[in-house]
Amino acid sequence: MSHGVNKLGVLGAGQMGGGIAQIAAAAGISVTVFDSFPGAIDKCKGVHKKSIGKFVEKGKMSQADADAALGRISFVDKVDNLTGCDWVVEAVVEDAKVKKDLFTRLAAMYPDPKVVLATNTSSISITEIATACGATAGRVVGMHFFNPVPLMQLVEVIPAVQTDAAVVERTIALATAMGKTPLKANDRAGFVSNRVLMPMINEAFYAWMEGVAEPEAIDGIMKLGCNFPMGPLRLADYIGLDTCVNIMNVLADGLNNDRYRACPLLKQLVTAGRLGDKVGRGVYTLPAK
Ligand code: NAD
Repeated sequence: MSHGVNKLGVLGAGQMGGGIAQIAAAAGISVTVFDSFPGAIDKCKGVHKKSIGKFVEKGKMSQADADAALGRISFVDKVDNLTGCDWVVEAVVEDAKVKKDLFTRLAAMYPDPKVVLATNTSSISITEIATACGATAGRVVGMHFFNPVPLMQLVEVIPAVQTDAAVVERTIALATAMGKTPLKANDRAGFVSNRVLMPMINEAFYAWMEGVAEPEAIDGIMKLGCNFPMGPLRLADYIGLDTCVNIMNVLADGLNNDRYRACPLLKQLVTAGRLGDKVGRGVYTLPAK
């Protein structure tokens, strides 16, 4: 089945939205990215230049293709200006209310149910987000990319209870056209990836908080002992500690079990503004980019 996408809208110019825009543009699709936060668009443009530049340096992309891909990406700072899209992927902050408000607005902006509204949420119920689109909930689907989007192979495809079967097939076709491997999961909190990964990351914070070992040792043990490419605390910095807390909250509420509550130390770092790589400091202090 063809995905039928000529123009992709992306909500959020952060780590994930920026990456999704980049790979779509590299696959020949025109993209418009929306973000209203001051500085977010400029930062995203800088990340694109650098990331696509690395593909050129490594000989994985020609300079002409890189320039063409960058030329396919435009930006808007008002959601109402995100017009003419035949598919929208949402990648804003992991907050159910923010996402549902945006989906209600998108459903009104795009009354044609053929326009698919996908969410890159890490853990929030797709069924719940779909309810925000009322009668056209059948075009809402989970399209869960991984970080960094240009390098990670997987897209978890998550149908809501309401999602039309044809939308799932088109999502699989679009992910494949973007060079990814789509795998389906059902709509339970955290799906597969974060249901399994996040409790492990949370446990690593408990191990640190309880003095079992220092972060370098926790990460080193998991790398060398379990063959992980990156230790769980380093990975938390990479994901964003605020996003980790948000996902744990969704798991605890969605699976109705307090064993998924975020570790107090993880929450404390977020309160202190130590959000990880995106601000230069989380578990670790990172060299300035
Ligand atoms: P990010 O913080 O890098 O970017 C989020 C973007 O949302 C920012 O550009 C910000 O301007 C915008 N935003 C914040 N509050 C908003 C609001 N109230 N209304 C509209 N826009 C708002 O976060 P990210 O890592 O790109 O995550 C985005 C989404 O992708 C989240 O749902 C997250 O769970 C999911 N996700 C993240 C990862 C990861 O590893 N970081 C992986 C897969 C999925």
